[in-house]
Amino acid sequence: MNLPYEGKIRVTKLYGTPPPPGFTYAAGKHSGMDLVGVNSKQIHAIASGTVIRSSYDPTGWGNYVVIAQPDGYSCIYAHLNKRNVKVNEKVQAGQAIGMEGNTGNVTGSHLHLEMRKVYADRNTTIDPAEYLQIQKKTGDLVMGKEKEQDQVSDWAKDAWNWAKEKGLLDGTRPKEPITREEMAVILERLVALK
Ligand SMILES: [Zn+2]
Repeated sequence: MNLPYEGKIRVTKLYGTPPPPGFTYAAGKHSGMDLVGVNSKQIHAIASGTVIRSSYDPTGWGNYVVIAQPDGYSCIYAHLNKRNVKVNEKVQAGQAIGMEGNTGNVTGSHLHLEMRKVYADRNTTIDPAEYLQIQKKTGDLVMGKEKEQDQVSDWAKDAWNWAKEKGLLDGTRPKEPITREEMAVILERLVALK
């Protein structure tokens, strides 16, 4: 599983929200999630699969691509500016499939990402945020806990690098707690330092 953009992503509309004034949604609610690429407009497949639609619908999805995934879900990538894949083409997770755009029923450039259990049935949508395990909150996407836990805080960087260099710590999992036995090993290593 992959995120649809490289670099920063902004979540502009969540799954399940009601339509804005003057708009109607075929499903009565927002059936997908709207995302905007901050650094890059290139859209990447979130999973591998086979392209079952690559088409243009001027009053709805604009330029859109649908990929049938091996896990059974169909993923719709809508309002594209450009489509890079054809029907029956096999795509890999992360493959560039098009460019974000503002084609179809839109107010601005974004990707409408929609996932259905059954492609032909609009009542089988799921929340893409849940599938991608990302926040259900609009605004800039904050990456998962793992990523955050891999970052050494600025204030600790010098000490962290020193401890790594001296072999006191192995340089992994900077945010995790330490056990008493691990502490004993570190102290032993420290005393053995010359
Ligand atoms: Zn949308």
